[in-house]
Amino acid sequence: VIPLRCRACGDETVDAGVQYCERCFGPLEVIVPRRPFDRTAIESGPRSMWRYAPLLPFGSGLHAGWTRLVRAERLGERLGLRQLWLKLEGDNPSGSFKDRLVAMAVAASGPDAVLACVSTGNLARAVLWAADETGRRSVVLVPAGTDVRGAIGVQGDYDAVNRLGVEAAMAHEDWAWVNVGRRALYVEGAATLAYETAEQLGWRAPDHVVAPIASGASLLRMWRAFSDIAPLLSSERSVRISAAQPAGCAPVAAAFAAGHDDVRPVRPSTVATSLAMGNPPDGADLLAAVRSSGGVVEAVPEDEIADDVSLLRESEGIVTEPAGGVAIGGLRRLATSGRVEADEVVVAYLTAGDTGMSTGRLGVPNEPIEPTLEALEAALPEDLRS
Ligand SMILES: [Zn+2]
Repeated sequence: VIPLRCRACGDETVDAGVQYCERCFGPLEVIVPRRPFDRTAIESGPRSMWRYAPLLPFGSGLHAGWTRLVRAERLGERLGLRQLWLKLEGDNPSGSFKDRLVAMAVAASGPDAVLACVSTGNLARAVLWAADETGRRSVVLVPAGTDVRGAIGVQGDYDAVNRLGVEAAMAHEDWAWVNVGRRALYVEGAATLAYETAEQLGWRAPDHVVAPIASGASLLRMWRAFSDIAPLLSSERSVRISAAQPAGCAPVAAAFAAGHDDVRPVRPSTVATSLAMGNPPDGADLLAAVRSSGGVVEAVPEDEIADDVSLLRESEGIVTEPAGGVAIGGLRRLATSGRVEADEVVVAYLTAGDTGMSTGRLGVPNEPIEPTLEALEAALPEDLRS
């Protein structure tokens, strides 16, 4: 039984596979356990996200996390930053930070649960990886044209696919919908990114973190996680968080620039397909967190993203998908505008590696289906239909 709390009204409940508060429809989040923990116990733990078990709702699960945090001296020199670090989430088994989130959602699921998700690409790979690792079946929905073998392509953009996912989650409540019904637990996986960063820096928080965002949920959870772990850190400092979006899908950056509190949906058109979420569910809460931390939300012009991917490759030998270019582009803008100072400890999150890989094992057709429940049912193996 996992205790959850509504982020809007504070009402407490237990995990029943729901995403929203039954009283006010606010988003639910896990009440972080307060078990005794110390650095020594964590340091002698497994070389994975599960070393932080005392801070997590589950003690173990699929092997993900403990990715490299590397000092980026050459890139730092180019940007005028003397203490720049990069967190390489491409080290995860399926190539992105989503493995942490899926590992957490799977830990909350029964041994026979069908793993299901709606994805722009990286989550699809993570769920297919988890299904392979655990012998579970999976149903993975992606926008048509997303190159993930084993996923079901759906006509329309992410937001259209997401609407189908919400509908399908109601028709198949017994499945483990990792980013729908299991969303509160899923997001908990992102906290381990912050815990790891602090430990790898020698148990201190960075001065400033920069990450590309889609829904906004993971960076929001990371920001809270730096507070969760404050008793372990050698110095009390507040972390500034900054987010980066591709200009072709930058609803949070637009709200930040305009001084709005709410985030108005956009229709995505971006080369950074993994970030193409036009109606980010946690956008407004992330915006408030960024502002209160003293950070910014940057929009990186579409025609600069490939150059920033190249800058990263040439300076550090690190290859990423376009989202990595968005992270570096956001960082570059922060540095050139003087919003980050030369001696600050800055961590940029490269949320995925070069995700040209595909896994895949479902025997369902790859031609895109219409975004309707009927079309989805017809595309499923017979024994999975409702
Ligand atoms: Zn509520």
